Amino acid sequence: MTAGQILQLIRTGSCRTRKELIEFTGLSRSTITERVDRLLDAGYIHESGVASSAGGRPPSVLDIDATGRLVLVADLGAAHAHVALMDLAARTLAEESTAIRIELGPDPILSWVRQAFQRLLDRTGHPREQVCGIGLDLPGTVDQKTGRVVRSFLMPGWDEHPIGEIVGAGFEAPILVENDAKAMALGEWWSHWRETPSLLLIKVSTGIGAGIVIDGRIYRGVEEAAGNIGHVRLRETDDRVCTCGSRGCVASHSSGLAVAADLGLASSRDVVHMVQAGDPEAIARTQEAGRTLGIVLATAVSLLNPGVLVLAGDMAETREHYLTGIRESVYRRSLPYTTRNLDIVTASLGERAGVVGTAVIVIEHVLSPATVDAALEVAEPA
Ligand SMILES: [Zn+2]
Repeated sequence: MTAGQILQLIRTGSCRTRKELIEFTGLSRSTITERVDRLLDAGYIHESGVASSAGGRPPSVLDIDATGRLVLVADLGAAHAHVALMDLAARTLAEESTAIRIELGPDPILSWVRQAFQRLLDRTGHPREQVCGIGLDLPGTVDQKTGRVVRSFLMPGWDEHPIGEIVGAGFEAPILVENDAKAMALGEWWSHWRETPSLLLIKVSTGIGAGIVIDGRIYRGVEEAAGNIGHVRLRETDDRVCTCGSRGCVASHSSGLAVAADLGLASSRDVVHMVQAGDPEAIARTQEAGRTLGIVLATAVSLLNPGVLVLAGDMAETREHYLTGIRESVYRRSLPYTTRNLDIVTASLGERAGVVGTAVIVIEHVLSPATVDAALEVAEPA
């Protein structure tokens, strides 16, 4: 058992002391001492407090050192960018956001991200060397092997752009790029739903995307395309044109952009403001959009039988009107047995779901046994 694997036992709370590690792993005292010392020296863990003991010298408690290493994350939406500096417990040390349109292309957006990252470090007085991982989520499909965007309708000019190389320049840290709905799904699961084995998150802002978390992991599908439900075509004869170029996609009826267009508005944010102001037409159109998306979600729910369906994105802020529409369709079109334990709720992290989810992805990578063992190997070659 490697030092990285020992770290997981401490992280998960399975073992809190050297004695518990010896008992749990069956390894010798000298081996455990050597592994724990390496983790202590490298700053992955620290000794804190004192565990209750039956007598003799009380053993000190081993715990993750969440504050020595930091992560930088950026959450990019169709019309916003949000960056945060966080510790390894996903606590925010500093953050910043701006209204910026992703369709401007990668150069101005990534330039803002790089400058904002530096401002967060300067404001908090942390050196770049403390950053052990960088994450970025955006509203497109991401090839996990290359960290590049493939086939995004909302992000012209981003396909195959070397995002990681640009954002990570000057840092000695891995860069992870993720689809926004997938990151949000993991963030919500990690923050509030760790007891449930299956979570389905639907993000509805300008477009529609979904993220699936099964047993604590993001489910991606063979082409990274799991969750692309916005472009399911409802009716072959439908003449509503979608952003993908096809006709009759559920997004062409139910996305924030579609609802905005029907109301003579420019964006999903405008819809939110009108619904919050109590406009009856905007409320009716929003509920209808939720019901239409609910038709597709009933299929997803019947297929996955999740413990919770979370609505995120701009349309989650429509005073539950969009959510009500989803509930109506999902409950009416699914077997009661499938939905009797299903919560259908709005995202509890709100607009922070993206940064938290992306931070969790980075933290899980940075503290994984393989990454930790590789880092220890570099620090002190055998
Ligand atoms: Zn479409």
